[in-house]
Amino acid sequence: MTRRTLLSLFSALGAAPSIVSAQAKPGTAYKVTFTDAEWKSKLSPPAYDVLRREGTERPGSSPLNNEKRQGVYHCAGCAAALFTSEMKFDSGTGWPSFFTTLPGAFVEKTDYKLFMPRTEYHCASCGGHHGHVFSDGPRPTGKRYCNNGVALTFKAASA
Ligand SMILES: [Zn+2]
Repeated sequence: MTRRTLLSLFSALGAAPSIVSAQAKPGTAYKVTFTDAEWKSKLSPPAYDVLRREGTERPGSSPLNNEKRQGVYHCAGCAAALFTSEMKFDSGTGWPSFFTTLPGAFVEKTDYKLFMPRTEYHCASCGGHHGHVFSDGPRPTGKRYCNNGVALTFKAASA
């Protein structure tokens, strides 16, 4: 093997990893990122299960089901504003429900965990899982954002 062949072999090897990392980037660029261990220590166990493990809380378990004050609902993971109290409605499902969201609050993806594909949505800032969106909501949007209460924090508007 000549010196020249060795050099071109090394430069070919050196080039490969940069191509791989360039392809891995899209879709994982959230503003707020922590390692799994950091999320675990930052969040309560039920919030961690929903936000980072795509779990679902027991229906009727969230005090936010009955929250009727004026205010803003934030992500329990990163504090991004997601919904206002004007967007909330009583769906009777046992989960806090909203017919729309603040602009750009979420990204959606298809979930195939049950027999039917469902659209789940994630916080656009930290990637935390919040719930699923259904098309049986009230007017004007016809949408129903079925959100886990434990993934939200409510801040009442100051009187
Ligand atoms: Zn978030």
